[in-house]
Amino acid sequence: MSSESTSAPNFIRTQIREEIEQGRVDSIVTRFPPEPNGFLHIGHAKSICLNFGLAEQLGGQCHLRFDDTNPAREEQIYIDAIREDIEWLGFQWSGEVRYASSYFDQLHEWACQLIRDGLAYVDDLNAEQMREYRGTLTEPGRPSPWRDRSVEENLALFEGMKNGEFAEGEKVLRAKIDMASPNINLRDPTLYRIRHASHHQSGDKWKIYPSYDFTHGQSDAIEGITHSICTLEFEDHRPLYNWFLENLPVPSRPRQIEFARLNLNYTVTSKRKLKLLVDQGVVNGWDDPRMPTISGMRRRGYTPASLRKFCDMVGVSRASGVVDIQMLYHAIRSDLEDNAPRAMCVMKPLKVVLTNLPEDHEEIFEVPGHPAREDMGMRQLPLNREIWIDHEDFMEEPPKKFFRLAPGKEVRLRNAYVIRCDDVIKNEQGEIEALHCSVDLETLGQNPEGRKVKGVIHWVSARHGVEVEVRNYDNLFQVEAPDRDKDVDFLDHLNAQSLETVYGIGEPSLAQSGAEQRFQFERVGYFCADRHDHSSDRLVFNRTVSLKDGWAKAQNKSN
Ligand code: ATP
Ligand code: MG
Repeated sequence: MSSESTSAPNFIRTQIREEIEQGRVDSIVTRFPPEPNGFLHIGHAKSICLNFGLAEQLGGQCHLRFDDTNPAREEQIYIDAIREDIEWLGFQWSGEVRYASSYFDQLHEWACQLIRDGLAYVDDLNAEQMREYRGTLTEPGRPSPWRDRSVEENLALFEGMKNGEFAEGEKVLRAKIDMASPNINLRDPTLYRIRHASHHQSGDKWKIYPSYDFTHGQSDAIEGITHSICTLEFEDHRPLYNWFLENLPVPSRPRQIEFARLNLNYTVTSKRKLKLLVDQGVVNGWDDPRMPTISGMRRRGYTPASLRKFCDMVGVSRASGVVDIQMLYHAIRSDLEDNAPRAMCVMKPLKVVLTNLPEDHEEIFEVPGHPAREDMGMRQLPLNREIWIDHEDFMEEPPKKFFRLAPGKEVRLRNAYVIRCDDVIKNEQGEIEALHCSVDLETLGQNPEGRKVKGVIHWVSARHGVEVEVRNYDNLFQVEAPDRDKDVDFLDHLNAQSLETVYGIGEPSLAQSGAEQRFQFERVGYFCADRHDHSSDRLVFNRTVSLKDGWAKAQNKSN
């Protein structure tokens, strides 16, 4: 499938293309504006692909700007992780990394200007009172008793707030817009709050911090952002976004455009909830391979190309919906199908003795790293008298259509000979210990004489096989919408089987693999050598995804 045939409409790209064609815009500047209060997740990947993608496709620029107005919840580790994730996805921001906090002086000056223009005031109402005065969707708000303070008094009080003369929550600076506006965002929104907190960029310089609304649009304007793309929940903030631009001497006029956020089933994408999973030790950190974080998906084995393709398949629209996680699995499968070298690895080892081979038999097969990719070269596969096969590929009493191994039945060893099971060796408890099989030495690269052998199974030499720790991951949640029901804790929906560790035996070439190298373990799935734990002494592979593609199947049916 080519990426063109699977990419979905992107109304923002269409719109901006038109603006460029009609000469209404010269060149675009977009931005990706994360708050450094957690790791990026798959939803952010959509926003990154959109913002950086537009700049890439339409010949513009994209800034990375940390929206760092809430020092209490922000940390340097998040800044570092976010930068790393964006670069890993294959995007590069233009110029230096930017911080909203570097505009704090300018924002403060603009706040003073609003006061001087009679468009902002210091309010003494506390948070609860402010809520009360704000009114509801059906009732207008009421003006605060402090709304008509003089410019001089407001300037003096605001200066006092800045100098740390008041306690947190004692006062705020608010815009003076319209307490009766049908849009609650325009009912005198908060511009500055008192926070006696140290900031990761500006240190102890500030005792007051601007609100998101007062920061975002002006930062866009300072940077010459042309299209400020955000998710739909900011639609109702757009009038406020524009109000600031109209009432301040900003150097440019960015335009806000909203799109629907990405929701995935079986997944939570709230940073607060993801942080809870980390803090409570439900997962092993932000980059646990079960996390929908970019770093988790990376560790799980996703490629940048697969995530970019997924975002392309999802498209950009204003209609909210839930994307099936199978689509994400499909995106990584189709990438790895083409790009991951093959290897054999037996998950549940069952010993097979090839009785007609001599004790010291050793034969090396040269087999392709990938069936369709000559550039991946060849790998060496030794065959000895004793091999491992997967227990699931043998049945003592097979049903009719079982084309694998059974007593008296034949099967082909992948890349090697056809063997027949002559004997089942059991221990005292009656458990199968080994199989005795004979090799048909006439069957290398050709069908056996006069009979058809349908099944092919994977195997590993017992003498040369290497132990591998395999981490099989499944969805972290067992229900499609873990956070839909407000009365049920989303943690109640955790899937207790989301991680299963098994010890398998892999073909010897795996001993040479490096961290983050990906493979198709034939007949099993796609696996990625763990970024942290894999080494030549301890081979650790994460299952990225199994082989079976539920999404492609469903598509074919519906087409
Ligand atoms: P959360 O509300 O989950 O804590 P956030 O959305 O506030 O996170 P930010 O760091 O502010 O996180 O997000 C940076 C950018 O990514 C914003 O422009 C935001 O709109 C966008 N974004 C966040 N989540 C999604 C999503 N699920 N789909 C698309 N874009 C998203
Ligand atoms: Mg946000």
